[in-house]
Amino acid sequence: MTADHQTTGLVARDLASVWHPFTQHALWPADEPLVIDRADGCYLYDTDGRRYLDGVSSLWVTVHGHNVPEINAAIAAQAARLDHSTFLGLTHEPGIRTAEELLRIAPDGLTKVFFAGDGSSAAEAAIKMAYQAATQRGEDRPLYLHCAEGYHGDTLGAVSLGGVELFHATYRPLLVETRMVSSPGVLKPGQNRADRAREVLDEMRAQLDREGDRVCAVVVEPLVQAAGGMLTHDPSFLRGVRELCDEFGAAMLVDEVATGIGATGRWFAVEHAGVVPDLLVVGKRVTGGVLPLSAVLVNDAVYDAFLGSAASGRTFFHGHTYTANPLCCAAALANLELMHERGTVERAARIGDRLGTALEPLAAYDGVAEIRRIGTMTGIEVQSVGERTGFEVCRVARRNGVIVRPLGDVVVLMPPLGIADTELDELVGVVDAAIREVVR
Ligand code: PLP
Repeated sequence: MTADHQTTGLVARDLASVWHPFTQHALWPADEPLVIDRADGCYLYDTDGRRYLDGVSSLWVTVHGHNVPEINAAIAAQAARLDHSTFLGLTHEPGIRTAEELLRIAPDGLTKVFFAGDGSSAAEAAIKMAYQAATQRGEDRPLYLHCAEGYHGDTLGAVSLGGVELFHATYRPLLVETRMVSSPGVLKPGQNRADRAREVLDEMRAQLDREGDRVCAVVVEPLVQAAGGMLTHDPSFLRGVRELCDEFGAAMLVDEVATGIGATGRWFAVEHAGVVPDLLVVGKRVTGGVLPLSAVLVNDAVYDAFLGSAASGRTFFHGHTYTANPLCCAAALANLELMHERGTVERAARIGDRLGTALEPLAAYDGVAEIRRIGTMTGIEVQSVGERTGFEVCRVARRNGVIVRPLGDVVVLMPPLGIADTELDELVGVVDAAIREVVR
């Protein structure tokens, strides 16, 4: 069978039996479905042998590149020793070591790790923990405070704290009660980010003045509201949230699923603001982009609220079949070790700077409304010239060998942290040309 025939056959079988995430299936068949066959370094290869630079690090996860021998070897060695064993009432060394390593890189003050699988499942756990901890301290705090344009995943608790209308509005009747303030990353004309931070903090304070004693947690994505369109805010916002949480006795819950493990040029985005949250959610890049593993890191105050006798009912009755799967932990350990060895986080900061410089000509282009970037996390907001402008830009980029994804009219660049300078230049060159072709 020729490669062409193989691809056509796979696409037909996909259309016959698969339902893809975040995909409108009435349009997908006409969108030239791409069948990915293999990956190497920062490149993906389709079943016709064409090569694509992975400009969104396979949805914000790839750290060193694909098929990293050290990570693959660690998974294989672990599989030969212990493939899986439940973490409910049992433990294993890869899980213990992964918790230790996460705490080693996390801000001081976070002392315990609760594992989950995807970002959503960790966010969901953290949301329940914040409420249960408050309840077990004898407080009645059934409310959460969160920001418009936030995104924490697709499970119902996470959706409750989301603020992206397109994704979340449908489910409103099903959700837990929350109070939402404006996005710190959506500026009024002429407003700067520090002023916006102050304004949203004032809004938060007003909410907390009204019912702060009923709020168990303030939930934020630190520095970048990623799925909301790479909306960036001033670090002073996070310092203000920390102060408000302390004043009103609410937990500060930060979702570092998109930002954590190096993407902003620090291990965690909260470091840019010098704040330590009470609960920190991490996912995506933990395993280097190979296997799903996420976690909630908490401080003693949260953890201690769950201690008690069997009869106290204080147990966190929550967990998943594959919690802390040893293969995922082995991948995480190999990834984190490589990141230390290679200075990947410092390199990510340098990649970010190079990206910023390379994008300067595009920022001056009429067809671009704004470029927002923190570290390697970049959103290029293009002027709309049709219903799917962002999508069209990505389609043209793909024809020219680069995979990027839009969030509406924002073209997202999120290169693997280990991308080479020449590959980064290729990424920017192709995206720049695609935007100029589509948005004239
Ligand atoms: N939280 C944030 C900030 C995210 O960006 C995402 C996904 O992009 C999630 C949570 C959900 O993670 P997952 O898709 O792994 O469930």
